[in-house]
Amino acid sequence: MFPESRPPAPAGLPPAAQGGALLPLPNFNLPPEDWARQELARRGFRREPGKKLVALDPGHGGLEVGAAQGRLAEKILNLQIALHLRSLLEAEGFQVVLTREADQRAFNLPESQSLSPNNPTRADLQGRVDLANAAGADIFVSIHNNGSSNPSEAGTEVWYAPDRPFGDKNWLLAREVLAGLVEELKAAGYVTANRGLKNGSQFRLFRDRVFPLFVLGNPRTEPRVTRATQMPGILGESLFLSNGYEASVLAQEHIQVAIARGYLRGITRYFALAGS
Ligand SMILES: [Zn+2]
Repeated sequence: MFPESRPPAPAGLPPAAQGGALLPLPNFNLPPEDWARQELARRGFRREPGKKLVALDPGHGGLEVGAAQGRLAEKILNLQIALHLRSLLEAEGFQVVLTREADQRAFNLPESQSLSPNNPTRADLQGRVDLANAAGADIFVSIHNNGSSNPSEAGTEVWYAPDRPFGDKNWLLAREVLAGLVEELKAAGYVTANRGLKNGSQFRLFRDRVFPLFVLGNPRTEPRVTRATQMPGILGESLFLSNGYEASVLAQEHIQVAIARGYLRGITRYFALAGS
């Protein structure tokens, strides 16, 4: 896990960002709202009628490495799992849009706008949300692997936000994907610890404030305007890269395929149960 929604750094920000703001800040550090539509057009994206559209979001990319163990980087692993999952979903009749298709950020903030170290991360995360919205995705699935300062931490968890308007669907998707991951990892020979469902609206505590996971959270106006996904979503943490043994498990391609199968199983069950 990488802190997706780091607290804003006061240094270098306009005074309005430091509390008591009268007006929301302009989105100078976010992608423009029409960027995602242009990006989808550039990729030749067309909505295929009659198919469910799944937005897959391989976490991190480019300078954002995420968790790592030796030469195994979370950003690469997440993308490999997402590409396996795309193939599996397409074979089952789903349409898929990826927030990134290579080792790069989804949205690159121009140098001139990178006023604080958090800005490129925030802009990248906003870009991922914007792409899913512009594509008209039915669900948003963010694919991660975990990291901890405690190398003995291990297992599988899925994050969702209960306080969104479609919080019940977030929960259902999270429940089914968690079950799918645990089952498919077991079938592939690895019995993972089930760490359960996690509340994405309380991802991180900092100075008595609670920070939600950006890609799962509600829209915000303070300290900045953010746009939220318009569809149910989850964030999966399949295994811990910071755990030496789980990193060696994750390095195996058949395990990456098993993780993709776990997501597929959860997504398929979700649509069967949710009905839309
Ligand atoms: Zn991550």
